[in-house]
Amino acid sequence: MPVFDHPDFDHHQQVIHGCDAASGLRAIIAIHDTTRGPALGGLRIYPYASEADALTDVLRLSRGMTYKSALADLPLGGGKAVIIADPRRDKTPELLRAMGRLIDSLGGRYITAEDSGSGEADMRVIAEVTPHVGGLDRDGSSGDPSPWTALGVFHAMQSAVYHGLGRAESEDQFAGLRVALQGVGHVGTHLARRLHDAGARLVLADVDRDAVTRLAGELEAEMVAPEAIVDAEVDVFAPCAMGAALTPEVVRRLKARVVCGAANNQLAHAEVAGQLQARGILYTPDYVANAGGVIEIAWQRRDDARPEAVMAHIAGIGTTLDEIFARAAQEGRSPAPVADDMARERFEAG
Ligand code: NAD
Repeated sequence: MPVFDHPDFDHHQQVIHGCDAASGLRAIIAIHDTTRGPALGGLRIYPYASEADALTDVLRLSRGMTYKSALADLPLGGGKAVIIADPRRDKTPELLRAMGRLIDSLGGRYITAEDSGSGEADMRVIAEVTPHVGGLDRDGSSGDPSPWTALGVFHAMQSAVYHGLGRAESEDQFAGLRVALQGVGHVGTHLARRLHDAGARLVLADVDRDAVTRLAGELEAEMVAPEAIVDAEVDVFAPCAMGAALTPEVVRRLKARVVCGAANNQLAHAEVAGQLQARGILYTPDYVANAGGVIEIAWQRRDDARPEAVMAHIAGIGTTLDEIFARAAQEGRSPAPVADDMARERFEAG
């Protein structure tokens, strides 16, 4: 399987395949760029149909982390790890320790954290054999990053609502604003509560009917079927479920003038950014908006971590987006390529 000639190779510094026969480990660690610091990125455990699928996924995710950390102003590079396994069936302590030894062999160039298929308990097992693990609170409490991610998306939305709808940041910036949330899982729930507290009127959808019914009751929100959420008569559409939520078909249907959510890789393909722009819909680059979790993980690694400092850093997501939106307006481009350019300016400069 070609690595250097892979369409997503994009100058990765290192791609490591790891195998441990005793535990059944088959893993790939991709280190995209370490110019700004060690490569931080989650560990995904997923039963990929093929090794080629795993390689494509890890290369894309790892590259994305470089961009995310650069625009979040973190002294970190981008990397990612995948284990080809079913997390429900194959995830044993032996497998995780073998992964930990592979991570350890890189001497800190790659730092792991939770991702889909791996949770905080798994990070604790990996931490038995390597110190290069993020996403664990030092005092032993939950390392769940989703409240921080939601806080970051909230700040991102403040910026987007100003630039896209002309409503300046103030106490009542969100009063009466209608926001549709696609997905009320970990991040979506925290975000919905924040928006409700700020006076927004919410329209919620989730394939998990119980979860959405509960939250809609709590927040006196409207509830619609998952397939109808993109048609909701709202000001802001917040994708907080799966990737590729924004397809050409969805863009045609959206009533919202602003898109701002937590989901990774929201654009089904790069051209969708231009289609959003052509319809006058302001798109908030996903990896900028959803960096709150990684910012918090980065702070946990410091000796001077304080909640106020973490919150101030996360609030900086709004300032970064002000810059992106202003530059996009000035250059007549979509905020998506503008964010990519700004990230490259940062990590290529070191
Ligand atoms: P989650 O799994 O807790 O929540 C996702 C929710 O979306 C679930 O409730 C699921 O039922 C729902 N869903 C799935 N398909 C749907 C559909 N078609 N329509 C409506 N709802 C649907 O995940 P999460 O941790 O809340 O993350 C949400 C998104 O944000 C993901 O894309 C994730 O990659 C991204 N993200 C999360 C974090 C974090 O801190 N958790 C950080 C960065 C990015």
